[in-house]
Amino acid sequence: MIESRNPYNDEVLEKFEELSKSEIDQKLEKAEKRFKTWRDVPFKEKKELMLKAAAELKKNKQEYAKDMSLEMGKPIKQALSEVEKCAWACEYYAENAEKHLSKKTIETDADKSFVSYEPLGVVLAIMPWNYPYWQVFRFAAPALMAGNIGVLKHASNVMRCANNIQKIFERAGFPEGCFQNLVIGSSKVEDVIRDKRVKAVTLTGSKPAGAAVASVAGEEIKKSVLELGGSNALVIFENANIEESVKTCVMARYQNTGQSCIAGKRLLLQDSIADEFMEKFEKQVRELKSGDPLDEDTFIGPLARVDLAEDLEKQIRESVKQGARILLGGKRDKAYLEPTIVEDVTPEMPMFTEETFGPAIGVTRFKTEEEAVKLVNRSDFGLGVSIFTEDMDLAERIYPKFEDGAVFVNELVKSDPRLPFGGTKISGYGRELSEDGIKEFVNKKTVYFN
Ligand code: NAP
Repeated sequence: MIESRNPYNDEVLEKFEELSKSEIDQKLEKAEKRFKTWRDVPFKEKKELMLKAAAELKKNKQEYAKDMSLEMGKPIKQALSEVEKCAWACEYYAENAEKHLSKKTIETDADKSFVSYEPLGVVLAIMPWNYPYWQVFRFAAPALMAGNIGVLKHASNVMRCANNIQKIFERAGFPEGCFQNLVIGSSKVEDVIRDKRVKAVTLTGSKPAGAAVASVAGEEIKKSVLELGGSNALVIFENANIEESVKTCVMARYQNTGQSCIAGKRLLLQDSIADEFMEKFEKQVRELKSGDPLDEDTFIGPLARVDLAEDLEKQIRESVKQGARILLGGKRDKAYLEPTIVEDVTPEMPMFTEETFGPAIGVTRFKTEEEAVKLVNRSDFGLGVSIFTEDMDLAERIYPKFEDGAVFVNELVKSDPRLPFGGTKISGYGRELSEDGIKEFVNKKTVYFN
């Protein structure tokens, strides 16, 4: 039995019966059958359906957002923004998929030669709970517009959201079987990946889950995309606009109660401005309002599960044991952890080496530009980095030196349907969103006429 439990009050919200082997089989059969017709549906029709999905999200955003707040504790205002962002992704791909996938002519010795972008078939998406709608829509909107079929294995604690997503596509009028939620735990995933009807897999989640899924996909020679964890640095140089960068860094770390792969987890401060920055930063973090996720004023909710709060508390404690100092917060009550600032973090401590998935930031100081680059790149993760400076020569000089999938200057790292999103190193491979994202799950067919 799969269970949804409200992390704010520990009440069980709903229980879900796992699909049996034969029920999974029926769903995959339906998916494969649907692919045979869906692949040839003209862009114009797919566009209309995707725009209806966007309209459905907007129309019933309260209903969809509330389930997110209940199942994983996201403060309601942030939950509503997430639903709206999903509508944006649907609209973006409705408008742009045809252009992104138009044939690319390449001059050769042939009469004509070109690349034709064609769908692969049924794609399995294994998704995490932290952005329970956004993670799924940023896969589903491009995949469906490309002519693929989606089957979802969502995180076990957000099955209500997962069922809602299937409902959104149904309410929008997508033909039955275009997008189905599989109510299964992770032990049943291997068989689904190995199933001949499944052509590719994408996973957003942790490194262990990514490694397990990619190994099976590798054995089956199936395409995989991995969007894994991150430990983004926020680098503040001495010539930064301090007021603005403090505000941005507070959002970068503490929105979604710190449970974001691209959150700024390591705060790197140039010595000369470190004290001034910290004074303002601490003041703003102190003012963040914790409370019931369903309360409109709440900015910090509980973490999605008690064990996640316990893990983060352990990382803080271990770092303190190694010499770090808690400047603010650090106390836990069940799934809730106070917004926390940990100073004097060194590159050997868990607050630096590991991904911290919650409202706690580790602060490290540096002296020179070179030292800053070394500290950023020292992480095994490579999702993104934000640098703060008014000196654009410095920004131009330094951005190529970072090993990450994204560099944002004077802005927090964020996903945007128009821009590619993805990581390097143990943060994964492949890209989502933009033209790059829609081209991950297509057969780039070379066609040659002589
Ligand atoms: P997780 O434990 O790895 O779970 C992610 C998904 O994988 C869930 O659906 C989970 O199902 C499934 N899963 C877990 N182990 C599996 C296995 N061995 N085989 C097959 N499926 C498996 O991650 P999470 O705690 O939900 O999410 C947090 C992680 O996701 C963080 O590391 C975060 O940084 C990362 N993340 C990355 C991005 C990105 O774009 N790079 C975005 C958001 C989050 P069950 O729930 O049933 O275990």
